[in-house]
Amino acid sequence: MALTNQVAIVTGASRGIGRAIALKLARQGARLVINYAKYQRGAEEVVAEIVGEGGRAVAYQADVANPREAVDLARAAQREFGSLDILVNNAGITRDNFLLRMKEEEWDQVLDINLKGVFNCTQACLGHMLKQKKGRIINISSVVGLTGNVAQANYAAAKAGIIGFTKSLAKEVASRNITVNAVAPGFIATEMTATLAVKVQEDYKGRIPLGRPGKPADVASVTAFLASPAANYITGEVIRVDGGLAI
Ligand code: NAP
Repeated sequence: MALTNQVAIVTGASRGIGRAIALKLARQGARLVINYAKYQRGAEEVVAEIVGEGGRAVAYQADVANPREAVDLARAAQREFGSLDILVNNAGITRDNFLLRMKEEEWDQVLDINLKGVFNCTQACLGHMLKQKKGRIINISSVVGLTGNVAQANYAAAKAGIIGFTKSLAKEVASRNITVNAVAPGFIATEMTATLAVKVQEDYKGRIPLGRPGKPADVASVTAFLASPAANYITGEVIRVDGGLAI
């Protein structure tokens, strides 16, 4: 298996895209830290599913927006499994609003979790990867970070920020055999998109050239590829997984 003996942290893995990524990495042989913020039962179910399939995983609660909790999360991987090879920065939220109506807290929450969370977790994990001269960092951005979107200035700014972060860090750590890439999903069927108004959902679906919303597994397979030896020579890349939405 492509990821045998690798240790991976997936942030926000209690449901949705993060859950699918964690299951995919585990099925390729990785040992998993399943991070979550509040939904403990969801995280425990993901652990149970992995263990039930013969893999290894633990759940770990940490708010990625909190630098100390991010450090604890990185330590948990090393304590449980003795290493840390793959970090998937997936945790994210939306607080959509038109800019004139956007509250400061809506801006701050999205930037704190979606962008500062990536900084916190990456900084917490990077020291270990630098020491072992090996690592994979995969950041879940969004096509909205490439195209922008009405009522998502906060989310688009965070997701575009992730792309700049990814390219900068890729240059910074390439000489230490650490790759840093981003995945930019389009419209994926999860709780995040289920909360959108039906009209907005239908409008999205009508604009997807491949004619269907994405599945969490569509994002997971590309993430697993970027974590695998098949992607050894790819860094600083942004891969859209959007059925053509942003063409
Ligand atoms: P989701 O179903 O709403 O799940 C969000 C996940 O993030 C949950 O596991 C949640 O944990 C976790 N999370 C939220 N705040 C956190 C915090 N402060 N610390 C740690 N974990 C936290 O969302 P999703 O659709 O799977 O999205 C996953 C990622 O893909 C996000 O970064 C999102 O922006 C991105 N994305 C999604 C789409 C889409 O169409 N769905 C498109 C493009 C990009 P709890 O369960 O404990 O709350």
